[in-house]
Amino acid sequence: MAAADNITGAYIFQGANLVLPDDADIGPADLCPVDTAHAFHALSRSLAITTFGDPCEIPTVDGDAGMAAFMLDNDTVLPKGWRSVPIRQALSAVAGGMVTAGSPEGLLFRAYHIMQWRRESAYCGSCGSPNGDAPTGIARLCPVCGRQEFPRISPAVIVLVTNENGEALLAHNTNFADGIYSLIAGFVEAGENLESTIIREIREEVNIEVDSIQYAASQPWPFPNSLMLGFTAVYAGGTLKPDGTEILDAQWFKRDALPNLPGNGSVARHIIDRWYNRKTIEEE
Ligand SMILES: [Zn+2]
Repeated sequence: MAAADNITGAYIFQGANLVLPDDADIGPADLCPVDTAHAFHALSRSLAITTFGDPCEIPTVDGDAGMAAFMLDNDTVLPKGWRSVPIRQALSAVAGGMVTAGSPEGLLFRAYHIMQWRRESAYCGSCGSPNGDAPTGIARLCPVCGRQEFPRISPAVIVLVTNENGEALLAHNTNFADGIYSLIAGFVEAGENLESTIIREIREEVNIEVDSIQYAASQPWPFPNSLMLGFTAVYAGGTLKPDGTEILDAQWFKRDALPNLPGNGSVARHIIDRWYNRKTIEEE
């Protein structure tokens, strides 16, 4: 879908980075899109030669006019006056925890998710023909066999496990930065419900059993296409033992002796903070 005339801004992505003018600070306000005209003109002169496809319009979930988005090739050299910032690093400046659907960061997440999917859905998954865009909505439509494809969303659970001593289970995953501990998480497998995913992942990764599973919160997480579904659960047996491959260390932590935690803008941090402040969903 080509960018319409009524869009109000543009996101420029390159890999997992957001491309911004040099003079934009990283803060909640600056996660809003750069000015459309600025982006269009500057980029069409300097960068359009290596963008992936046409600018795409990203309407809001409600269907309101939204933003344009570009995806630059990874090897594109940015012109003077522009820089690229990891989206996840930029999120650390987001105050107040989670990214919500109606926020500037929520639209940024939506645009990034859709732009990655567009890149990966250039060809029909059934007959291999070059895909077109459906006339309405965010969808691909194969002009040869009529197959429709929508943005893929992969559900993943993330769980705060507590024990009878008032401690929380936090783990260091091989993918985390040094010294960071967070919640146990894992993708939902085909044929599973969320409860069985939680029990399986915790058993596989740290060798314990849980019960009293309760929903806590959810958040989109487009790295690349997840929906994080947050829960709490209670320790119900077994000896804590990290699997040594995905989880390198896992420990029970008291509130007054917490390790380094994931940054703001993640559902993990939101759920940990809620536990730390002894709040329930109803109290927020
Ligand atoms: Zn097809």
